[in-house]
Amino acid sequence: MTSVERNRRFSAGIWMFGQFVDRFATDGYGPEVPMPDAIRRAASVNGLEAVDLNFPFWGPGASVASVRSALDETGLRAQAITPAIYSREYSKGSFTNPDPGTRQRALDLIAEATEVGLELGVDYMKIWPGQDGFDYPFQADPKRLWDLSVEGMREVAGPHPGLPFAIEYKPKEPRTHMLFSSAARTLLAIEDIGLENVGVLIDFGHSMYGAESPASSVELCLSRGKLIDVDLNDNFRSWDDDMTVGSVHIVETLEFLFSLNRAGWAKPWKLDQFPFREDPAAAARASIVMLSRLLDIADSIEPKQLAELQENQDALGAQGFVFDVLFSQFSRDRRQG
Ligand code: FE
Ligand code: FE
Repeated sequence: MTSVERNRRFSAGIWMFGQFVDRFATDGYGPEVPMPDAIRRAASVNGLEAVDLNFPFWGPGASVASVRSALDETGLRAQAITPAIYSREYSKGSFTNPDPGTRQRALDLIAEATEVGLELGVDYMKIWPGQDGFDYPFQADPKRLWDLSVEGMREVAGPHPGLPFAIEYKPKEPRTHMLFSSAARTLLAIEDIGLENVGVLIDFGHSMYGAESPASSVELCLSRGKLIDVDLNDNFRSWDDDMTVGSVHIVETLEFLFSLNRAGWAKPWKLDQFPFREDPAAAARASIVMLSRLLDIADSIEPKQLAELQENQDALGAQGFVFDVLFSQFSRDRRQG
């Protein structure tokens, strides 16, 4: 065990219990699931304590009252609210939409979502301006997009100094180029925004397919006191596949968890997955099992021993060390060999 108390708290984006639509199955994978029912589905997963909710709440009959009563009924907590500033109306951007009226509606939607968030007692607001960016060279003035995004964030987060606003970055999709595309660009924008309550959400998968080292991005954001939350999932590094945790990149997931653990990360580990063809509850359970195992392994890492290897930048030594902790059986075989 490191100095960290064992943190085995888990949460999930509510979208992973809803209906999935892509550009092929435009009729959706599975039936529509109103948000209160998605909350009940989430509650069937042992260990989940909180959910990140899209706003407006979706599905027929979904309202603040029905969502609140589903939360009360299941004992789940609203961890965050994600305003849908990425839907059809904002296909040319939210903060950066060429139409000032649409820009204002995006700001109004975030303001409304924030009021609901405060009412539900969320830990933070999650801002994912997924449509803010561009698709073609010369399509937009990068400086104008930057300035509008900075101003927009100032406008929504400024009135609520006591409430964190986390910007979730992503390299691409739905745009070929998103404005908040990397940890570094997001931190630079946050510097320009100049508000204490604005920080970063690192989605492990976004960081992976943005060709980052997710652990390095964690350290970068932590060193500036700007890491608000993380999303957990996995992918093949070329797309945001949103697969179960550790299904492809176990070693880098462990490194990511180790960095957070070492910093005393005490927030629920939030799942962000799109189990298009899997049972969502089973996919969440699979991630929780994997996360629990990897966290046990991260806890067992002797920081001093690792620090010595890293001091010498001993690549194979560090690899052997990680394999030892990951596969004790494997390491015994190696020593005997
Ligand atoms: Fe995410
Ligand atoms: Fe994503």
